This record gives sequence, C-alpha cells and structure tokens, in this order.
Amino acid sequence: MKTDTIEKEIKYKKKMAWDNLDEGLRKRAFEFCEDYKKFITDAKTERETINKILDLSKKANFKDGELYKEGDRFFFVKHKKIMALVRKGKKRAKEGLSIVVSHIDAPRLDLKQNPLYEDVDLCMLRTHYYGGIKKYHWTAMPLSLHGVIIKKDGSVVELSIGEKLEDPVFTICDLLPHLSHKIQDEKKLKEAIEGEKLTLMAGSIPLSDKNAKERVKLNILKILNERYGLIEEDFLSADIEIVPAGAAKDVGFDRSMVGGYGQDDRVCSYSNLKAIMDSEDPKRWTVALFVDKEEIGSDGNTGAKSRFIEYITSKILAIDGEENPQSIIMDTLMQSRALSADVNGGVNPNYQEVHEKQNAAFLGYGVCVTKFTGNGGKYSASEASAEFMGWIRKLFNKHGVTWQTGELGKIDEGGGGTVAKFLSYYGMDIIDCGVALLGMHSPFEVASKLDIFETYRAYKTFFEADW
Ligand code: MN
Ligand code: MN
Repeated sequence: MKTDTIEKEIKYKKKMAWDNLDEGLRKRAFEFCEDYKKFITDAKTERETINKILDLSKKANFKDGELYKEGDRFFFVKHKKIMALVRKGKKRAKEGLSIVVSHIDAPRLDLKQNPLYEDVDLCMLRTHYYGGIKKYHWTAMPLSLHGVIIKKDGSVVELSIGEKLEDPVFTICDLLPHLSHKIQDEKKLKEAIEGEKLTLMAGSIPLSDKNAKERVKLNILKILNERYGLIEEDFLSADIEIVPAGAAKDVGFDRSMVGGYGQDDRVCSYSNLKAIMDSEDPKRWTVALFVDKEEIGSDGNTGAKSRFIEYITSKILAIDGEENPQSIIMDTLMQSRALSADVNGGVNPNYQEVHEKQNAAFLGYGVCVTKFTGNGGKYSASEASAEFMGWIRKLFNKHGVTWQTGELGKIDEGGGGTVAKFLSYYGMDIIDCGVALLGMHSPFEVASKLDIFETYRAYKTFFEADW
C-alpha cells in the first residue's frame, strides 16, 4: 500500500469547516448568525428565551398542544421556564421519538430576596450568583436587570433595564489596584472576590428630607414606587436576574466568530429551534426540548430531572391517537434517540495545557460530538455506546456535516456534565452534540460562526433521520 493512500484514506484527519463548506453554505452560515445574534441579544434569561422561542414557533405555525390535537406542529410550555416543540412524524410516535434537548438558563447573578441596602450614602443591591461563574468576571462592567415581580395584589411587573441605548445600567465596582494588594492580589483567584461582595450600585441621590435615615435607599424606594407601583416587600416575591448589558457582536477582522453572553446554551437552543422548524418531512415524531436549571444541577420542576419528558411523551401519544398513552410512555422513550445539545470547551490558545489536543475540540472544526463527559475515571458520565456513535457518525458524514469529537479537558484536569444522563435514565440512546466555545461561562463567550451553522445542520439532519 502506498504511503499516499495510507495518509489520504486510512489516517483520521479532522476537517476545518472553512475548507469543507462551499461559498453558498458559508454565506448561509453568516446569515444564520445574524439572526442568532439578535436572538441572544433579546433573550437574556430563561423566561425571555421561552418567550422568544414561543413567538418564533407561533410564526412557524406551531399550535398549543394542550388545546389542539389536529395538525402537525405543537408547543408545550410549563411554568414559563420549560418547553417542548413537537412535530408529527410519518411513523407512529410509540415507535420512538427523535429528541434534541438544550438548556436555556445561563450563569448569572440573581437579586437576593431582600436586596436593597444603603452604605456610605450609596444604595446597593445584594445578589446571589447562579451557576459556575468566576466572580471577578462580573465586576467593573455594565450589567442589566431582567425579571418579574409579583406584587402584593398578585399583579405582575416585568422589568428589563439596561439593554436599550438610553437605559441606565448597574455595575459592581471593583477595588482600585493601588489598594488591592493585601485584600485581593495575594489571595487565590477564586477567593479574591467574595460572593457577598457582588453587590450592585443602584443609586446615590438622597431623599430631600434631611432628618430621614437611609435617605438614598428611601429615594430609590420612592422612585420604584412612582415608576412601577412597588413596595420593598414586593422584592420577596420576584425572579430578578442580573446579566451583562448589551448586544452580541461579531468578533475578529474577518467577523468569523460571535461573542456574547449566554451562548452556553442558547447557541444550541437557537440551533435546536431552527432545526425543528426547518426540518423537512420528519420520519419520526421529533421533539425539541428546552430545559431550565442545567447550570445548577437540573433539579426543580423546570429542570431536566423533572418528569417533563414523560409528560410530553404522554401528550404526544395522545395526539397520535393512542388510547392509553400512560401505558406506553416507557416503551416509547426506551426506543427513542436523542442529542444532548450542549456546548463544549474549545482549545484556548493561552491555556492549551488543560486539553489533550488529540481529543479536544477546536474552533472552526464543526459541530462537536462528545461521547462522554464526567470527571476522573468517567464518573457521573452518560457515555454513548459505540453503536450509537457509529450511527451518528454515518449520519453526519452522509449529509456532509463538518463534525469533530471533543472531551471536557484532559484526564483529571476537571470535568463537568450535561443533561444527557437525565434522559439516558429512560433507556434512550443519547449523545452530547453542540458548539465548542471559548470563554465558556464568562460574560462574553465566543463561538465560530461555521460551528454554529454546522450544529444547526447536525440537529436538522438528526430530526430528518430514521432508524
Ligand atoms: Mn451547558
Ligand atoms: Mn454551563
């Protein structure tokens, strides 16, 4: 056998998406990312993401599956934080579903329940961080406030402050380097900024009554009351989230990357949404699942550990005309196949040593398929079988999807998990499949535009596939 043959036909070589996609597909990828940037700019919280997905799916003729049984496109939303889009397939639903599951929550700061206080004549807001953040990322930058407040009478106030050009923002002031030597610089990075010090600047004008105590806080309470009808106790019944202010942007002279907040995992959520809307002629009943709470362990009634997937499956079976859907839920899920649509960490040129590069994901090499996550000796991993990996490989190759494999860092370097294991619980085959990010969990995560597009194409191909 010639060396040339071995090198070209036998040796495994990853392909750059930039070499694999023709001019037409590249153009589509850039257009796709224009809409994607708008999506993540508008959808900064799990509620806003649900609202956005709902809007777009209604425009694409999805109907409320709780109300309608006729038709072939349905949506299901629960608690405003978890949802599913469903499309009818040619085969019976009980023969197994094609599921792509992504999460819509992202690391952030939540306001504490009783957040307002005054100190050194400034009004401040206390926060509690959510998910795996590096606390120093959140200081010294413009932050916006999003959320809902349920008032005393049960009425709802929705807030979004800090995104419009003319809006004020909030910020966590860091300590000047001149004075941070002992209190920050000599400490370990993760200890340098304490969770309780992630407090936001919220105002500095005192109430005019000079005899009052906490005049600045009182003035802010007055403003909140005049503007939104709020009293301080209303903060006790609220979901208010603090996120980086501003829009997602192109990154680089060549505009080849997208930078923005919340791409873990809204990049996969957007690709999931577009893939189920655009997929042609699904053979199986297809389900795009959007779950909350992944960043804090998937617990709770809107997380992947809730029995939402069983609920949806019973609804699908009922729509498909099964008389006793409850009795065949487990059968259906056991025969289903799924992609756990989540991001992986791409190789960062400055920190290559945390990866074993023969098995790591790189920006620009297409959608990343991760056979297992976990930590140490594959602990807590839902590893996909060789057979399922083989099926995925064949599928993506057949449809010209540029794909690569990845692992979450080199052995014993750290690790992490996704929702894959919570769906694998039902016996379905599932594998992690999504975009490789740089700066994951930071306020400004970076992804390659072609990887985003290839992820969309991968999910679409999966939704169109049969087995
Ligand atoms: Mn994720
Ligand atoms: Mn994450």
